[in-house]
Order: sequence, then structure tokens, then C-alpha cells
Amino acid sequence: MTTTPERIEDATTDVLTVAARQVRDEGVGLSETQILQVLRLGDDRLEELLALAHEVRTRWCGPEVEVEGIVSVKTGGCPEDCHFCSQSGLFPTPVRAAWLDIPGLVEAARQTQATGATEFCIVAAVRGPDARLLAQVREGIIAIRAAGVDINIACSLGMLTQEQVTELVEMGVHRYNHNLETARSHFTNVVTTHTWQERWDTLRMVGAAGMEVCCGGIIGLGESLEQRAEFAAQLAELNPDEVPMNFLIPNPGTPYENYPVVEGSEALRTIAAFRLAMPRTILRFAGGRELTLGDLGAEQGMLGGINAIIVGNYLTNLGRPAQADLDMLGELKMPVKALSQTL
Ligand code: SF4
Repeated sequence: MTTTPERIEDATTDVLTVAARQVRDEGVGLSETQILQVLRLGDDRLEELLALAHEVRTRWCGPEVEVEGIVSVKTGGCPEDCHFCSQSGLFPTPVRAAWLDIPGLVEAARQTQATGATEFCIVAAVRGPDARLLAQVREGIIAIRAAGVDINIACSLGMLTQEQVTELVEMGVHRYNHNLETARSHFTNVVTTHTWQERWDTLRMVGAAGMEVCCGGIIGLGESLEQRAEFAAQLAELNPDEVPMNFLIPNPGTPYENYPVVEGSEALRTIAAFRLAMPRTILRFAGGRELTLGDLGAEQGMLGGINAIIVGNYLTNLGRPAQADLDMLGELKMPVKALSQTL
């Protein structure tokens, strides 16, 4: 068969052909323009895209899946106005402010370890930690260690000062989560009580202090495809160790309660595009995946670029039971990452 000049043109400019060479073979993430091209691919290319994203993930991250647990020490009553968040105290959501005590924290860590998880993330719904919260986290970490629970400890406590970053490093916190949530150009439509730059500054300090950086966001906040590509490129510039990907859960009482749920195929295309933007990062399924993808979609995501999951409940929305996720990994023949590999 002879190849016409147009076909040669197609083959050399097709974004998936380029991505196979650039990302899969050379480990160089896609640019913002290329990410947008991927996000604009039709459903007829979805299977091909997911297969490539899976190849990229296994080539640059290996076959293991990181399993993590999460616990909220302070739920609800947050003074910030992130429009998607049921924990904001500014919206009439059903979530009420509550604190978890130290024995409860230790028990949650123990249960998380029992699932085989390697990371245990202590989360608080706050703008940033005050002295009381930091003291509680310190006490909690000491109690978890004293109880012999062998697990990496991560924290998600909002925006930090340099002194607080130093304090967390000194407590032995291994990873810090703080999400940028959305593209810089869209942020003021989503949050008005603090800026994207404030979040970015915290992340820069965390990385410079030697903690692993965990930073992701939420898809489906009314952002355009261009802004989704912008967001992926901004995350790639930050070079985070881990990126949690959430899909909007339109929580009752929040300004986004009537926003549509992201469609399954769009969610899978977005996950794959983020994987092609960041070939080496841990890309984690976080909140909203049941609503967006259902059980089957979760499996497709695991074969389309994802390599970490949270087990059990997510903060204020009920996730699947831990065992269902671990069974899924077994069925997909994906090994769970062992703790010794992360130390
Ligand atoms: S996302 Fe975080 S900072 Fe924003 S309202 Fe929710 S808990 Fe507060």
C-alpha cells in the first residue's frame, strides 16, 4: 500500500502518535497545547488513549498501586468559601463541625495499616493550622508510633507558614497534601477567601523543606477544556510526588449543588491526559469516582493511568468499602506497594 502525503502528515501530527514517542518512550510530559489536543479527542480514540496512558504509567511508575487511608481530625466549620466544599461553614450543608480525639486517630491509623495501606493522611478542614491543631497532630503522631502502627504519615492542614512547615518536618510528616483545586485562571470563580498564589506558595515551601508534595484538584468545577489543560500544565510545573484527582460531587447546600456530574468517558479522558502530562507522578483516584465512573469505570481508570487509591471513606462522602478496592486490584493483577519500598 502506498502512503499518501496527507497520511504521513496525519501520522506525524496526531497527538497520540507524538505522545507515544515523547511520553512513553522518552518520559517527557505533554505541553499545555498537547494536553488540550488530548482532551479534545473523540470517544472513538478513548480506548487507544487509555491503553497509552497505562503503558506510560507502567513504564515510568512500575506496576504497583499505592493504597492510602485518610482520616479527618477536624470536620466542617471551615471559614473558607470553596464553592464545591461541604465542609465550608459558610454554606448550609448538612456537615457539622466535629473533632476526632487521639484514641480515635490511633484506631483509624491501625485500621488503615490493616488494609495494607502505606500512607495515612491526617486531614483538617481549616484555612491553616493553629497552635491547638498542630499540638493535636503532634500528639497523634507520637501516639500512633507508640502504638506500633508502622505507616507513613501525611497531613493536609491547609495553608502553612514557613515555621509550620519546619514544625511538620520535625514531627516526621512524610508528605503534605494541599490541592490547587483548579486552573489559576479559574480559581477566583471557585474561591474568594484566599488566592491560588497562597496555595502555590505553601506547596513551594513544602517541597523546599523536603516533604513529598501531594497536590491535585477537582474536575467539573465549570472550567473549560482549555482551563483543564492549563491546570494539568500548572501541576506538572510544580512536579508533585502525587496528584489526587477528584471529580465534583455536587454536595447539597454548596453553590455547586446543581452542577452536572462529569461524564464517565470525559473523566477517563481527563485522567489519561493528566497521566500523559505527568508520566512519573503517583496519580490517585480520590473523591467522586463512584459517582462519575461506577465500579466498571474505576477498573478502566486503573488501566488508564491511575496508580494509587484511597481505601474506605473519603472525608464527608461515603466511598466503597476498602475490601472492594483491594479485591479490584487483585482481579486486575496489580500488586499493592509495600511500605518498605517507600522508606
Ligand atoms: S476545601 Fe478546604 S479550605 Fe476550602 S472550604 Fe473546604 S475545608 Fe475549607
